[in-house]
Amino acid sequence: VIIVAVVLGVTLRKETETNQFQSVFLSRCETFKGNNCQKIWETFQQAYVNRDPCKVPMEAYDPLVTAAPFKPTCNRVMFWSKTKVVVHEFTEKTDCFVTLEDTLLGYVLDGLTWCGKEGSSETFTTDCPVWTDCENNTVSSFWKRVSAAYADIACGNVSAMLNGSIAVPFSPTSIFGSIEVKGLNATRVNSLTVVLVTEEENVTNCTDASLKVLQKELPAGINYGCEEVPESQLQECGSDPQRPCGSCW
Ligand code: NAD
Repeated sequence: VIIVAVVLGVTLRKETETNQFQSVFLSRCETFKGNNCQKIWETFQQAYVNRDPCKVPMEAYDPLVTAAPFKPTCNRVMFWSKTKVVVHEFTEKTDCFVTLEDTLLGYVLDGLTWCGKEGSSETFTTDCPVWTDCENNTVSSFWKRVSAAYADIACGNVSAMLNGSIAVPFSPTSIFGSIEVKGLNATRVNSLTVVLVTEEENVTNCTDASLKVLQKELPAGINYGCEEVPESQLQECGSDPQRPCGSCW
């Protein structure tokens, strides 16, 4: 009886994890109208179910990106690195910039953890490997793949919000540094503007050595600019939704 109860309990728990995850996925997806969310969910699952959660390469999500493609976006793409809270506080309030998390796939999966297991058709949300556990991690491969797709559709003047309160605002090994910057298409992108968010106690400014590295990593032909913007100024800009785009820095 105990064994049956335990097996039943474990089975029910697994189903609940899949169902709970699926319902978050679908309800977030429905927020973006005009998508076949059931089809997107099935394509998403195929990337990782029944697989070792450390053996999911970026390419596993290729069919997902095909099923839910990113629309070309000119002059509004906003990348970020080490500024997750402040960048979204800002983009939430104004319609001027779009982060990956404001697109369908970014919005649906932001903040979630998921993985599969060999021999199982379930989606797990607990005991999944973390980013640093393995290279081909289920979740990190997703973010790498969609970040590459997002960089690929960027056009015109693009922006990146970096953190001026840390010693090294640009890291070539971050996703921004290793995937997004390198994935910009010089035939479509004119310029990259770094918005270096500063606080009262500035640690870095636009002359920082790491930003020289960033300039070198930019594909040839893309212009570079940098603006030091106090966090209070961002908050002020955000509080006036009528303010014209591009007038905050
Ligand atoms: P970052 O270092 O601030 O990382 C962003 C998030 O990714 C972190 O909050 C963390 O959840 C995770 N992450 C990334 N690298 C990690 C690592 N080595 N170990 C553990 N967790 C890690 O900035 P980044 O790496 O430059 O990535 C941000 C850029 O890439 C953005 O422009 C965005 O488009 C995209 N991105 C978004 C997410 C997300 O969770 N929404 C995650 C990764 C990448």
